[in-house]
Amino acid sequence: MPQNSQNFQNFIAGEWVAPSTGNYFENRNPADWNDLIGCFPRSGPEDAQRAIASAQRGFAQWSKTPAPLRGAVLQRVGDLLVQKKEAIARAMTREMGKVLAETRGDVQEGIDTAFYAASEGRRLFGRVVPSELRNKWAMTYRRPIGVAGIITPFNFPLAIPTWKMFPALLCGNAVIFKPAEDVPHTGHLLIEVLLEAGLPPEVIQLVHGQGSVVGKAIIDDPAVPVISFTGSTETGSIIGATCGRLHKRLSLEMGGKNAMIVMDDADLDLALDGVLWGAFGTTGQRCTATSRLILHERIHDRFLKMLGDRAGKLRLGSGLDDRTEVGPLIHEEARQKVDEYVGIGKREGASVVIGGAPATGQTLASGWFYQPTVLAGVRAGMRVEQEEIFGPVLSAIKVGSLDEAVRVNNDVQYGLSSSLYTRDVNAAFQAMSDLDNGITYINAPTIGAEAHLPFGGVKQTGNGHREGGWEVYEFYSETKVCYIDYSGHLQRAQIDTYAEGREGDERV
Ligand code: NAD
Repeated sequence: MPQNSQNFQNFIAGEWVAPSTGNYFENRNPADWNDLIGCFPRSGPEDAQRAIASAQRGFAQWSKTPAPLRGAVLQRVGDLLVQKKEAIARAMTREMGKVLAETRGDVQEGIDTAFYAASEGRRLFGRVVPSELRNKWAMTYRRPIGVAGIITPFNFPLAIPTWKMFPALLCGNAVIFKPAEDVPHTGHLLIEVLLEAGLPPEVIQLVHGQGSVVGKAIIDDPAVPVISFTGSTETGSIIGATCGRLHKRLSLEMGGKNAMIVMDDADLDLALDGVLWGAFGTTGQRCTATSRLILHERIHDRFLKMLGDRAGKLRLGSGLDDRTEVGPLIHEEARQKVDEYVGIGKREGASVVIGGAPATGQTLASGWFYQPTVLAGVRAGMRVEQEEIFGPVLSAIKVGSLDEAVRVNNDVQYGLSSSLYTRDVNAAFQAMSDLDNGITYINAPTIGAEAHLPFGGVKQTGNGHREGGWEVYEFYSETKVCYIDYSGHLQRAQIDTYAEGREGDERV
């Protein structure tokens, strides 16, 4: 560990504590690897176990707190995030590289999610349903489940944890949170906000460390009945196997290979702005990033020329500089992976329209920068067309019709987001029903989800649950059904419903 660096701690059992291992890992700025943010605990399984035991005590208290009061805590969380928005955004940009406008948006998503959750505290509706028997009520209500294990990726260091944590807390669960190793500082700042807002300390636990150690300890522990994971499909499969064996409730949000389709009647300037934002925003490191561009043959050459001209002018640099449009990749392995895929694409027969190499130059010399890259001549089925690259690489594919475009869009293992640019309303509605994704945008890029709508994908992107909006509250609560019979005699469902009644009972 370097001298003079700050050692951050875990938050376990109501206290900031060192890891039982005594080990730490470095967290460095991906735009400038000489900038050390701090050292974070490389925790062991026993730290996770201690946190889970404490969270169970937190759950006993928090689950009895009325939902409107839980909502009031989340209201204060939202207020504090508003106050600290700029400071957290700057810390996030320093930690993971995306530009300030985007990290401000990331915090804003947390704010929106907090205020939505706060209002849900007065709405956590059950239903009162007519019983089939006389003098009997039937109703449902929502109960908390227990300790929720939350495991998150690096690309939305605040927003994604809040999508999970705020509804989980509002529903009355306690939380154990393991942020991605690349973004522990934002995780730390989020827990500080929750505590400042008055969340009872044992309700939230923060344990830093490796996924294969701390993440695994959380997944393996039967005392954590709910798991919410966002990350790669590969890791999600490992987690899914364990959760299946232990019969845990599991929400998986995983990889994507999202396509934008541009038809020959589209507004090409609008589509150009859209694809630049969709493909190169967050340096292509979004689950919803546009990584395939499906172009109608009649506008293919013209649009690629327009795209090459603009993509070549994107300004790379530190996300803290207001002029920067594209920040660095998260780490060295990510840059190597991107470069390998560009090589694979070329060997498969694609040509490089623009980019295709690590970005160098004075201000970029000590960061993980890669040139925004467009590959042309990509055909359906090629690896660069099928596999998630998670970087600033866009593969262009030529098609002759909307039907073909839809087939190309659908013929991948993932199913998160898709987009269509057209002026034809019939084509738009046809595509909305035929594109096999969780989310479809018309005349907007593949990114841009709003916090109050359900979010998630089909096929290998997810396992059927949704984050965001109203649906996520179902995931973090159990439905309890209650029947109250005030007839004073035994009434048997299905049997006495249509049978002759007792004397004096009225029948239909
Ligand atoms: P990752 O799978 O490498 O890691 C995600 C988290 O899982 C990290 O916290 C990591 O420590 C943990 N982890 C790793 N191995 C584990 C194990 N065996 N048990 C438990 N936890 C473990 O993903 P990443 O590189 O941080 O993020 C990029 C991926 O996330 C991409 O595939 C991207 O598409 C996906 N993603 C999906 C969505 C979505 O909503 N669908 C959103 C953002 C990112």
